[in-house]
Amino acid sequence: MKMIHFIGAGPGDPELITVKGRRLIDEADVIIYAGSLVNPKVLDGHNDSAVIYNSALMDLDEVSRIEIEAAKKGLSVARVHTGDPSIYGAIREQMDLLEKEGIEFDVIPGVSSFVATAAVLKKEYTLPDVSQTVILTRMEGRTPMPPKEKLIDLARHNSSMVIFLSVSFMDELCKTLIEGGYSPDTPVAVVYKATWPEQKIVEGTLSDMPQKVKESKIDKTALTVVGGFLGNKYSLSKLYDKHFTTEYRKGVE
Ligand code: SAH
Repeated sequence: MKMIHFIGAGPGDPELITVKGRRLIDEADVIIYAGSLVNPKVLDGHNDSAVIYNSALMDLDEVSRIEIEAAKKGLSVARVHTGDPSIYGAIREQMDLLEKEGIEFDVIPGVSSFVATAAVLKKEYTLPDVSQTVILTRMEGRTPMPPKEKLIDLARHNSSMVIFLSVSFMDELCKTLIEGGYSPDTPVAVVYKATWPEQKIVEGTLSDMPQKVKESKIDKTALTVVGGFLGNKYSLSKLYDKHFTTEYRKGVE
């Protein structure tokens, strides 16, 4: 159906977009993509006649104007966001403007960089007896943190933590996490451009990561993940425990 589709492009590898997202990009009359992070290869296969805009060069008003004009002409628009649009995607403000104009849209989820990061590290965020909680957060930048979400307070839980948009503040990040209650030898990984050909992985602990990141020269497009889930101590799951009965399988006595 011709309308505005917000599409999660995935983390970088052009094969990590959903089948639906792929089809809607191929069929779109207008494509607006976040050129600072979306791999342009994700757009390969678009209509020859499609008009393409890079939203990195535009403000909210300009993006919305293009979306609204196209929708009023009955064109189909692919608004392509990096990863999944619900995470630091600045998608809500666009959706609210469209709703005000009575313009129909839908959202096609994508593979967020935080799940791609676990995949390239070959780790699981939720290990029994290590952590059953994942905190996705960022450091305060131009966007302030709500007072109840200060990193130092979130650190208290020692959960698995994923920190977006913050690799250039690694000193302060690691210091705050230690002050908040993680032990200095807690494992940390920094993944630059997960799933892109130029992907880099730096592994260390809260105490040596600032130096390692400085040496790696990574200063953007990276995620920092922290927690015992990066280590090797954990309990086996109940789900596959042979003594444990589930809805599908009877455990042995
Ligand atoms: N909506 C996106 C996040 C947008 S915010 C998602 O779901 O992934 C942009 C931040 O996401 C970057 O500063 C970086 O911290 C992270 N990021 C995006 N793509 C990445 C990738 N391929 N590898 C590592 N981090 C990435």
